[in-house]
Amino acid sequence: MFQALLIERPAPDAPQTCALRTLDEAALPAGEVTVRISHSTLNYKDALAITGRAPIARIWPLVPGIDFAGTVEASADPAWQVGDAVVLNGWGVGENHWGGLAQKARVPGRFLVPLQAPFTARQAMGIGTAGYTAMLCVLALEKHGVAPGSGDVLVTGAAGGVGSVAVALLAKLGHRVVASTGRTAEADFLKGLGAAEVIDRAELSAPGKPLGKERWAGVVDSVGSHTLANACATTRYGGAVAACGLAQGMDLPGSVAPFILRGITLYGIDSVMAPLARRAEAWARLAQDLDLARLDALTTETTLEGALAAGPEILAGRVRGRLVVDVNR
Ligand code: NDP
Repeated sequence: MFQALLIERPAPDAPQTCALRTLDEAALPAGEVTVRISHSTLNYKDALAITGRAPIARIWPLVPGIDFAGTVEASADPAWQVGDAVVLNGWGVGENHWGGLAQKARVPGRFLVPLQAPFTARQAMGIGTAGYTAMLCVLALEKHGVAPGSGDVLVTGAAGGVGSVAVALLAKLGHRVVASTGRTAEADFLKGLGAAEVIDRAELSAPGKPLGKERWAGVVDSVGSHTLANACATTRYGGAVAACGLAQGMDLPGSVAPFILRGITLYGIDSVMAPLARRAEAWARLAQDLDLARLDALTTETTLEGALAAGPEILAGRVRGRLVVDVNR
């Protein structure tokens, strides 16, 4: 038997419920590798799934949780041996396959990556999908040529999961980071992660002009909507914006002006279906470029039950940094 959060829908048209349940291991879905989970996390998408605020759950019942870290308990995949420390991010787990907010999971072996040294399982989930996505954004800016010293780099949704890891990474790499947040009371937190300047997100979140004063060499945006449009409109000539999120909205109410008059580039960042080579690169770079003390500073921990309660909190923008779930506490 094992404990898990379980999303259920008593009838096809009935609203979903989500509760902590004790399940039989026989209920786990088919898959080659059974993992004893030690830590998971609460990502924005998990909060949407748990609360039913967006149609993340594609099957019922569903164990939510788009990522986990743990130890292989049984494996029919020659790539994985009993005792291997593994991490999973994405691939539709926690959406159309049972996920990580549980003490056990069974998944196809190709969904797993080795736990990246020197991280512990808890640290890997402190990073989690949000942090690994932040690294994918940083890699996109780097490959574009946004180098330390080339100008200010804007991070939106800075006090959230993607944002806080992005701030820590970019600062460690030597960029001058401008953190945009609605929680200006978190300015000291963001400066502690390495932000050189903290701005009120109200500067970016209202409808804006097609072009504004050129400010950013690069942008990591986890917010979307007017914020993303304004970030593009204020990116410097030839600069780049990495867009990964929709915390403000899924719309993009901007114009082509920044693209055709300033030659900026908008990179779309997806972590869910990212190929293995890109994942490996991102995890290796996290190991190299993420300061562990800063990771610790942006991580708080909760239980499976606590994750259930934190769902509405993360959607309301009240969770700071990353929320790790110790599934055995
Ligand atoms: P968090 O909830 O931790 O952070 C989101 C942050 O966005 C909040 O903390 C807040 O930051 C800001 N925010 C929230 N609401 C608004 C609003 N109405 N207007 C402007 N800013 C707002 O979520 P995550 O960091 O985990 O995820 C962020 C986004 O990235 C989500 O949309 C998520 O789905 C997406 N994502 C995408 C991935 C991909 O593969 N593309 C992978 C992981 C996440 P502050 O308080 O500082 O203003």
